[in-house]
Amino acid sequence: MRDRMKMTITSKPENERFARTVCAAFMLPLDPTVEEMDELKTAVSEAVTNSVIHAYDSNDGEIVIEGEIDGEWVTYMIRDSGCGIADIEKAREPLFSGSGDSERSGMGFSIMEAFSDEVSVESEVGSGTTVVLRKKISANA
Ligand code: ATP
Ligand code: MG
Repeated sequence: MRDRMKMTITSKPENERFARTVCAAFMLPLDPTVEEMDELKTAVSEAVTNSVIHAYDSNDGEIVIEGEIDGEWVTYMIRDSGCGIADIEKAREPLFSGSGDSERSGMGFSIMEAFSDEVSVESEVGSGTTVVLRKKISANA
């Protein structure tokens, strides 16, 4: 089975719920458990929220979200064309936040890692950031 979707949202906080709901619906053909769906929704939510909050500094920008199902694997790609991340390794450390906002706990990447099988991050300062989340959904009897 091979299936694809692609959508573009404006980087407004209220669009995050829409994006995560579409991503959850997209994986339904794999017959995931409720837990697997919740996990991926949470991971997608963290990536999209990062693009909304960090990438565009309260300006409107585009966030492209793509999904792919290939066999038992579902992949989501979340891409922004925002400010980018200077030190990806540091950004991925638990509790690291580059934001001065005390609401940010620096756990977004850790949550993505906990709830996906693979997380890859590519970023270039001034060009943007792409996060790829992959998860294997084993057939449920
Ligand atoms: P939390 O997710 O717990 O609210 P956080 O967003 O600061 O806090 P992470 O999601 O782990 O924590 O991200 C770590 C840091 O990486 C961010 O503080 C930010 O500096 C940087 N970052 C993450 N995603 C992006 C992005 N799309 N564009 C620019 N910077 C980013
Ligand atoms: Mg975050």
